[in-house]
Amino acid sequence: MPADTPEPPAKDLRTLIPEYAGLARETTLLNPEPGDPGVRESSLGGRLLWPADEPWPYCAQEDHWTYGPDLRNHTEIVPGAVPMVPILQLFARDVPGLEFPEGKDLLQLVWCALIHEQDPGPVMPKLYWRNEAEVVAGGLPAEVPVAGEGEYDEDNMPQPSTLSPVTAEDWPSRQDLPEDMRETWEPRFRLPTGHTMWPPDSNVIATKVGGWPAWTQPADWPDCEGGHRMEHLLTVTGDIQLGDCGGVYFFHCRECPGLPWDWRFDCH
Ligand SMILES: [Zn+2]
Ligand SMILES: [Zn+2]
Repeated sequence: MPADTPEPPAKDLRTLIPEYAGLARETTLLNPEPGDPGVRESSLGGRLLWPADEPWPYCAQEDHWTYGPDLRNHTEIVPGAVPMVPILQLFARDVPGLEFPEGKDLLQLVWCALIHEQDPGPVMPKLYWRNEAEVVAGGLPAEVPVAGEGEYDEDNMPQPSTLSPVTAEDWPSRQDLPEDMRETWEPRFRLPTGHTMWPPDSNVIATKVGGWPAWTQPADWPDCEGGHRMEHLLTVTGDIQLGDCGGVYFFHCRECPGLPWDWRFDCH
């Protein structure tokens, strides 16, 4: 190696670049562990505390597919709406870092676990903010519908897991660095070959609430209809396979009434 070739930076970005450390945000890592979560516990892939008088959500897309047991053959599912599957349930008491809308203390997330012709990842997610006491007072359904045996794509279904949330510091992934910072920093990491050797970033890749999205692909922040860039609400990744999907990211706008939200997913 020629004498003037710089050593690749070994330290992380926080140490090398004080401005980067200034972008730290608190995140809550959900730390799912396969188990048997109860309906009144926070969970990934567990039973949801669902109001008896509210119909269970279905995905009405027409083009549902799933993989056969050998993962090579697509199987077309009988056309028609299929029940969504529970993904996440968070009670406010377990995630103090998550700000709930007034009067709400329960966040639920479902999505369609089948494959759609147009989309390589799970789609049609729905978010619900609820009040636990109101749901309990109104009664719970005896059971919630599930699709036929073997119809769901297992990749898009988390194993029922209990959660052990802990807070941690989170930093933006490289995709989220402001352009001007990138330009300032990049020369520090440029090798004589012209390539840039970035040190590892400190973005936490996990299922988490708040903090920064754990993008696999270039950042793709949604704006609300009012023109505000939405805030990162939560990321689901890593702990479930999600097919070719790198992660599913949820965002919301707290400036607009009705708490508009949106989601993105990306692929490896
Ligand atoms: Zn669907
Ligand atoms: Zn807005």
